[in-house]
Amino acid sequence: MFKALVVTQDEDGKNHSQVQELTLDDLPAGDVTVAVEYSTVNYKDGLCMGPRGGGLVRNYPHVPGIDFAGTVEASDDPRYAPGDKVVLTGWRVGEVHWGGYGQKARVKADWLVPLPEGLTTRQAMAVGTAGFTAMLSVMALEDHGLAPGQGPVLVTGAAGGVGSVATAILAHKGYEVAAVTGREETEGYLKGLGATQIVPRSDLNETVKRPLESENWAGCVDAVGGDMLARVLGQMKYGASVAAVGLAGGANLPATVIPFLLRGVNLLGIDSVMQPFENRQRAWQRVVTDLPMDKLEAMVRPATLDDLPQLGADILAGQVQGRVVVDLN
Ligand code: NDP
Repeated sequence: MFKALVVTQDEDGKNHSQVQELTLDDLPAGDVTVAVEYSTVNYKDGLCMGPRGGGLVRNYPHVPGIDFAGTVEASDDPRYAPGDKVVLTGWRVGEVHWGGYGQKARVKADWLVPLPEGLTTRQAMAVGTAGFTAMLSVMALEDHGLAPGQGPVLVTGAAGGVGSVATAILAHKGYEVAAVTGREETEGYLKGLGATQIVPRSDLNETVKRPLESENWAGCVDAVGGDMLARVLGQMKYGASVAAVGLAGGANLPATVIPFLLRGVNLLGIDSVMQPFENRQRAWQRVVTDLPMDKLEAMVRPATLDDLPQLGADILAGQVQGRVVVDLN
């Protein structure tokens, strides 16, 4: 028997979450069974636990949790053996497949990544999908020419998961980081992660009035989308890139094409879900070298399975600071 957070749906389409005892026979089919040690709470987990499963969950009962780290217990795949430490993000695990909010998970071997040397399963989930995606964003910006010394790099939704990890990585790599937040009280936290400038959300979340403004930012990791992304495009330096990661502020993009045409600005789409294995390995390796573990620890808020429904609601309301680590041991 093991414990899991199980979400059911009643006849009125209302979701109910409860910690239940399950058996290994309850788990879906897969090549590898993992004893999950840690999981986390990402924005998407909030959606999956919320009304109608955020439109992401297909079948009930469902075990959410879009990422987890743990130890292989049984494997039908030659790439993994009992005792191996693994991490999983993406592949719609926790959405259409059962995820990490249980002490056991059964998944396809193709979805796993061996835990890199130098990272514990707890640290891997302090990073989680949010931090992994922040790493992919920094890699994409650098692949498009970003280097320290070009000017400030903007991080939007900075006190959230993606934003916190992006801030810490960029600062560690020698970038000047301008952190956008709607929560004034997070200033000390963001400066502790290495931000040198705090930009109030209200400076950037008004609709675009002029397609081009002063050239302020050498790069941007954007977790917010909507009006803010549209505004930021018009403030990028010539030839600079924006990594579009999230939609915490909206899925629309009420922008003009002028920044692309007159300033050669690049809008880079970042998807963490379907990343090929080699790129996942590269990103996890970069996490080990580019993210200082003391900064990561400063972001962590510990939690248990029982805390998850409330944390899901909190993250959708933009009220979670940094990274939640769910202990399943
Ligand atoms: P968090 O909730 O932890 O962070 C989002 C942050 O955005 C909040 O903390 C808040 O930061 C800010 N924010 C919230 N609401 C608004 C608003 N209405 N207007 C402006 N800013 C707002 O979520 P995550 O970091 O886990 O995820 C961030 C986004 O990235 C989500 O949209 C998520 O779906 C997406 N994502 C995408 C991935 C991909 O593969 N592309 C992978 C992972 C996440 P503050 O209080 O500092 O202003």
